[in-house]
This record gives sequence, C-alpha cells and structure tokens, in this order.
Amino acid sequence: MADAFATITQRRMTGGFRIDGIDGKNLHLDPGPGALVRSYQFGVNPLKLHGILVSHSHTDHYSDAEVLIEAMTKGMTRNKGLVIGSQSVINGYQRWGPCISNYHLSKSKVEVMNAGDTLILDNLKITATPTHHGDPKNIGFRMEWDGFTLSYTSDTAYFPELHQHHKNADVLIASVIRPGNEKIRGHLCADEFARLVKETSPKLAIMTHLGMKMITDHPVEEAIKITEETGIETIAAYDGMVMDLDKFQNKQQTLDEY
Ligand SMILES: [Zn+2]
Repeated sequence: MADAFATITQRRMTGGFRIDGIDGKNLHLDPGPGALVRSYQFGVNPLKLHGILVSHSHTDHYSDAEVLIEAMTKGMTRNKGLVIGSQSVINGYQRWGPCISNYHLSKSKVEVMNAGDTLILDNLKITATPTHHGDPKNIGFRMEWDGFTLSYTSDTAYFPELHQHHKNADVLIASVIRPGNEKIRGHLCADEFARLVKETSPKLAIMTHLGMKMITDHPVEEAIKITEETGIETIAAYDGMVMDLDKFQNKQQTLDEY
C-alpha cells in the first residue's frame, strides 16, 4: 500500500482525525472545534486535503468543516475536493442539521451517504456503516484501499450487529467516552469497546474522542486492560498522535514501536 499516515487532532472531545495517503488522498474525518488550528499545529497542511468526511450533526464532529473546506478550496477559489456527509449534515433531517452552508458546498463534489451506501473513488471504497446515536442519520465510515481496511464507528451505542460492519478491519477506530462498564446512552464505554474489538479482531484498535470522564480516568490504563483482555493491540488516541498505518497491513509485523 502507498504510505498512509493518520494524525489524530483531537483535544479532549474534538478535532477529529486526518489520514494522509489513502489511495493518494488526504482526508479529514469529523472536523470538530480546533480541527483547522490543530492541523497546522501538528504539521498537516489543510490546503492539501482532498476530502472531508462528516458523520453526523453534532458540533464536536462538524464545527470546523466549513473552514477546512475553505482551506481545501484555497479560499473557495478552486473547484476541488470531495465533501461526504450524512443526510443530516448535508441536507438536514428533521431537527438535525444541515451543518454546512450551500456556499461552502459549491466548490466541491458533494456526496450524501446513508448507512449501507457504498462509494467508489478511484481505488478507494467507502461504505457508510450504521450507528445507534442521537442523530438518526449518523454514519460510520469503512474505508478499503489497496488491500487495507480502516473502519471508523463514529459515535454509536453498542448493538449486536455493530461488529458485522467493522469486522476484519486492519485498523478499527471507535469513539469511546466512558471507562469500564459505565454505560452512557448513544456511546460506547470501554467494556463495550473491548467486546467490539474481540468480535471484529482488527490488528490495531484505537479509542478516540475521549470524553472528559475518560481523560480523568486514565485512558491509557483502559487501553492496556483491553489489550490484555482481547490480545489485540489497543491504544488510546492522544492529541497530535501520528501513526504509520503501513505496519498494520501484515499481521506478522511487530507492533513494538509504540
Ligand atoms: Zn454525536
């Protein structure tokens, strides 16, 4: 696979993450507050984006989408890039969204995805995965390219079929906002995430979007616990974390470099 790097730009609950080198494209997923500033802070250039993906209409996932679109299109002077969003994000659905102005959608290709939809972009296949969350149109993104699969759950409660949509991903990224078995409506707690990790058996599992509670309750310890329990390398994302995804392409490769 071509060199791919993921940069997590989150600060506590926001910022989303960026993946560079997906089939030659640089994508930013769920750009919440601070996504633009933190991109610069962590040395990834928002002018070099090819796509912006927004899963749902909660501000911590979309609030920087418009400024990133402005960067991607060089201040709205170029027709460039792709904006992918849920029905709620792009068109609005009942009381959810829309989240991006028509002006900001006017210079890029725009795709609305509902759970189950698939989009092919050159050699990249994106599948919108279902969620159980406040915004009923919220979607996760399963991205497959060059024999590699990265699957992102977005915000979702645990539900029995969830694993079917993320199984066999090389890298699983999930939003986990409570430690242990502290269940919270519409989200995963760490124990539920551990169950999902077991069911999907990725090569690497990443907990992101850590709520304030998780920060104070030692997410690194939670990740170690899940690693021990599942036998699958699990890490808690931190602000500015950069990962070389290539080494998770082959199961035989060492994970020691963490
Ligand atoms: Zn949400």
